[in-house]
Amino acid sequence: MSGEKTVNPGITRRGFMKGAAALGALGVTAGGIATATSSLAPTNAQAESEEHVAYTYHQSHCGNMCALACTVRDGRLVCIEPNSAMAERRYKTMCLKGVSEVQHIYSDKRIQTPLKRVGERGAGEFEAVSWEEALDDIVSQIKDIQQSFGKDSVLVTTCAECDVPFLATILEARTCANNNGIDIGTGNGLDPATGMGWGFAMSAQEPRDWVNSRLVLNVGNNFCESSLANARVMFDAKDAGAHVVTVDPHFSTTACKSDEWIPIEVGTDAALFLGMTTHILDNNLGDQEFMAKHTSLPFLIDTKTGMLVRSEEGIVDEAAKAEAEAAGTEYMPFYPFLVIDEDGQKKPYTEAANPQLTVEGTFDGQQLVSVYSKLCESQKAYPTSWAAEVTGISQERIEALAEEYAAGPSSLCVGWGGSDKLSNADITGHAAAVLVAVTGNIGKPGAGVGVYVGAQYAGYAAGFGEWAIPEKYGLMPGPADLQMRELRQTDIVHAIVAVGDLLAQKVGNMKLTEEWTKTIDLIVTADVYFTEGAKWADYVLPLTSRFEYDAEVGNVKNGYNHICLQEKVLDPLFEAKTDLWFQRELAKRLGYEDALPETADERVAAIMAGCTENVTLEQLKENQGVWPITGIENPRLVATDYAFYTESGNMEVYYQNLVDFNQALPQWEENIEAYPGNPEREKYPLQLTNTRTRFRIHNQFNDSAWLAQYYTPTVHVNPVDLEAQGIKTGDTVRLFNDRGEIKVAVAANEAIRPGSARLYEATTADYTVAGNMQDLTNDTPIERGAALMMGPVAPFSDTIVGIEKA
Ligand code: SF4
Repeated sequence: MSGEKTVNPGITRRGFMKGAAALGALGVTAGGIATATSSLAPTNAQAESEEHVAYTYHQSHCGNMCALACTVRDGRLVCIEPNSAMAERRYKTMCLKGVSEVQHIYSDKRIQTPLKRVGERGAGEFEAVSWEEALDDIVSQIKDIQQSFGKDSVLVTTCAECDVPFLATILEARTCANNNGIDIGTGNGLDPATGMGWGFAMSAQEPRDWVNSRLVLNVGNNFCESSLANARVMFDAKDAGAHVVTVDPHFSTTACKSDEWIPIEVGTDAALFLGMTTHILDNNLGDQEFMAKHTSLPFLIDTKTGMLVRSEEGIVDEAAKAEAEAAGTEYMPFYPFLVIDEDGQKKPYTEAANPQLTVEGTFDGQQLVSVYSKLCESQKAYPTSWAAEVTGISQERIEALAEEYAAGPSSLCVGWGGSDKLSNADITGHAAAVLVAVTGNIGKPGAGVGVYVGAQYAGYAAGFGEWAIPEKYGLMPGPADLQMRELRQTDIVHAIVAVGDLLAQKVGNMKLTEEWTKTIDLIVTADVYFTEGAKWADYVLPLTSRFEYDAEVGNVKNGYNHICLQEKVLDPLFEAKTDLWFQRELAKRLGYEDALPETADERVAAIMAGCTENVTLEQLKENQGVWPITGIENPRLVATDYAFYTESGNMEVYYQNLVDFNQALPQWEENIEAYPGNPEREKYPLQLTNTRTRFRIHNQFNDSAWLAQYYTPTVHVNPVDLEAQGIKTGDTVRLFNDRGEIKVAVAANEAIRPGSARLYEATTADYTVAGNMQDLTNDTPIERGAALMMGPVAPFSDTIVGIEKA
């Protein structure tokens, strides 16, 4: 027993670590050991049982937010079903992930008790401690660190499914910028044109509107895997007569359910859009009126500077001016962009009767060209013959697709998950914006653009209130100016409080992350399950799942076109505590005793006090926790008045901030690593696609035993790429590049494009033979990254690897 600390009778320190791969599996409670197995022990069939149904919601992350009816028998969750009170049958949904929660919340990977690191960082050696001891020490260390290095030396990171809105504020800590470059690749290029989409390309109309489209052009989106709600509406659209075309390098689940699959070379979506635009311009298939009146295409560019030309006379918005004066801020008039009107005169676009699209010449001694004329010139480099060569799609098919798209109404779905994590994804988004602008496929039934992932995100939403931290404390969150990749190159951060798996999920090139963690004085991971990133923590704290609460209600959110209430389904399991309790306890120790609501009920009251729908908490409870939002009878449309959220109010496709990068209009650029002619592909012949699956949401459900019956991490590769090396399905292979290696099972799959390998994102080392997918992924920022709306993309899919039998 030498060197083995006993943490509980019969369980040695070493046994504890090895037996429970996730360490938290066998926790310590006051009464002894609580195990998942004991929690799942059968009830006494003869005994009288207590049974009730509680209503809550599931994930916002897949975009569906299914409303659930949860049956609890004798304190155990025994059944989950769709909530029958949703307004229509279409909303009564759930998938296998929801069903699996009956087992998943009792998983052996649950963190059951607070853990403190006792070995080397990353060695995975912990001992159980009390919440009191853990929190006292954490707060004491944070205070010391902030005194020595400043408040912003503490980094708070969160995940989409946690509920810690006060955490960064009470710690006055910094947070990471722009989602660490995740999901923003396409939005970087698309959203500046419309002013919508929040940088995530979420500017789509509700996908229910696809029934009004003649063409639904889906480029790189695999919503039949990743977003149940969209799968349903895709079939509705097909039934209504829409032509659903999926463009994807791989024969994805969505491709196989579409009317047509068009295979494309990886990372060349922008080339497809550029080629389509050229064909539309060359053949005068565009929407001239939309271009002239609702886009920046007639705006004039000074050919010397590349900048748009503005009127010298500003327009003053008196109401906004008065507001600014009252607030003591400076008011700036708007200087409108100039166009050439039908009378040949230079005018502010706001005054022009019929702005001219084709303009090139000298006006008042200034050499000017319209954005449209510049676009026509720029597009000469991208004929459909060129696009065919780059994309691998025939010239005829590109031209026919362009004609069909231009005829409209057409919806253009762009991707999250794989294609947006390429280095040139912003060019894809920008080229998509130009395609939309020249055809006017936006702002009318059946015509929209965006990721469309998750009907919930694009559906109707109510406004809510939120608990306000009393001003007397003067608390403010710290800066959010750097992504984790950038922070990793500095010594700014000395402590990390991570709710969710920051370290293994949010940044590529994991070896660098491992090195970085050695420089951090304090790492705290608070989570429901023990993830790979938790292995580097000094403290690992158990939080409750979405089903457990210590109050009658936990939260209220927008679901898919409904307000959804989170009722308590179960008491907290093991020693897990709610997200609110965790934040309150930190606040108390920092001296902000009453900064946060005492109970979740109190917070929910504050949320509902600001609700913009005419519903009370009592009504919500009476209606099984759900309430339809006003207007949901019809699909939600956006920009129907063509008033875009840009400076001019028009769709702005000319990006002045990218003039120095020659990307004011989209110019073709290959990926940094994953392009066909890269000489490195001699060594690393496969592009590693990082995609999403119906079996997980990022790294969530990795640990669901029920789901693991159907899927365990496997790299899928086309048989032609395996046969050459004598590799067959079921073998373990080594994937490798200059950054690292992993070992994982392989399957031959003809659905994968030759030259590629597909692995689902968040494949972590606990579930592979060896290594985490992020050991391989690319973290190289593109040169223009800092100039982009959301900063540099995380180019996880711009990764090439070699493969050999392990
Ligand atoms: S994962 Fe998404 S689709 Fe599945 S049950 Fe949860 S919310 Fe619904």
